[in-house]
Amino acid sequence: MVLKTAENKMQSHVERNPWQMAMVQLDSVAAKMKLDPGIKKKIAHCKRALIVSIPIRMDDGSIEVFEGYRVQHNVERGPAKGGIRYHPDVTLEEVKALAFWMTLKCAVMGVPYGGAKGGVRVNPKELSIGELERLTRRFTSEISIIIGPEKDIPAPDVYTNPQTMAWMMDTYSMVVGYSAPGVVTGKPIEIGGSLGRNEATGRGVVYVIQNAFKQLGWNLKDSRVAVQGFGNAGSICAKLLSDLGLKVIAVSDSKGGVHCDKGLDVSKLNQIKAKGGSVTEYTGNGVTRITNEELLETKCDVLVPAALENQITEENARRVQAKLIAEAANGPTTPEADKILYDREVFVLPDILANAGGVTVSYLEWVQDIQAYFWKEEDVNRRLQDIMDKAFQTVYEVSKKERVDMRLAAQMVAVSRIAKAIQIRGIFP
Ligand code: NAD
Repeated sequence: MVLKTAENKMQSHVERNPWQMAMVQLDSVAAKMKLDPGIKKKIAHCKRALIVSIPIRMDDGSIEVFEGYRVQHNVERGPAKGGIRYHPDVTLEEVKALAFWMTLKCAVMGVPYGGAKGGVRVNPKELSIGELERLTRRFTSEISIIIGPEKDIPAPDVYTNPQTMAWMMDTYSMVVGYSAPGVVTGKPIEIGGSLGRNEATGRGVVYVIQNAFKQLGWNLKDSRVAVQGFGNAGSICAKLLSDLGLKVIAVSDSKGGVHCDKGLDVSKLNQIKAKGGSVTEYTGNGVTRITNEELLETKCDVLVPAALENQITEENARRVQAKLIAEAANGPTTPEADKILYDREVFVLPDILANAGGVTVSYLEWVQDIQAYFWKEEDVNRRLQDIMDKAFQTVYEVSKKERVDMRLAAQMVAVSRIAKAIQIRGIFP
């Protein structure tokens, strides 16, 4: 789990808080689209933000109080959707920004949700399992006045997981008096989770890479891939790309990376990780150790940043040798680096498109929960592919028509869909 992840916290050298950063992005996309100023004003505000205090009894009998947030940025296109983060650095401004980016991500994918996010200012590593469960249950009961399967559906984010979602689902069900599996996604399969959810982010990244190669007339087979970060998103993406015949020549994790011109055996890497090891323990003929910085500059065709934000910057963007970057991570490329990459004709698949497989299969999980009928994994993957293919095509066409990079094109698609929904629904009263 990445501790310091702040979704899309694309900070430039000017220090801004994440919400200010989000509003700078909104300014530029609105200017490019000549967005109605009234609609822009509406999108520049969160619909609702709830701050709660979470008192819990600690194992030693003392009482501790934590602060938690749930923010719904926009619900014009459907119920609010977004993860819950447990991290000591969580702030209301960060949660607001993350909720805004969720609105964009759901809109660009055509998933019928608005955006939300939640967080608790806590270091979960300092809590026992019992304390974490009590924290999660009290937080859920405090925000139960605004969440619900038809209102706002949380999911896991940094330092929360399927077990956290199970506690949330159970607590909400106790509050309303019946079992409500559709209140959260990313649940264990046994209580209404979806097959394919765990692999969805990495799989979605692969679908958009396939689309891009097809569109650009490039050959996937034997293309060389470098993957930074070998966690859920990175390792699954590496495995699926190597299954497609691409050569994974470099991977890394927080301890550093390994490189091999002939290609690395991804199954062997997975075995090392499954035992709690680091990819740096991988050995073999022609295998060399590299740093994370070297990985980003490795000679390859496809670079998949799948770890932290702010990895490709003004400083190293000129040395990136890949012809395509697929952002599995949120916010790995700074705005300054974006300009350099665009001028150098590096094709960037932006995070709100490339890593949206996770929220897309969350949507499919919610659909299955509501109808209480569960699909085979192939059905889930097929639907995911349909949605990813369509989103890629739409964004690609806008980028060609408007002569902008894929990131701005994705933001334009998203904002125009949100604006349309606001216009059609009108302003109440
Ligand atoms: P994870 O915790 O499973 O894996 C993160 C990996 O990054 C680990 O291998 C870790 O060792 C590595 N790492 C940490 N610090 C590093 C560093 N300095 N240099 C290189 N590698 C480093 O996390 P994840 O769920 O795979 O998330 C990775 C990124 O993908 C995050 O930005 C996250 O927001 C984004 N993302 C994940 C999902 C999802 O469903 N998992 C969905 C959307 C976006």
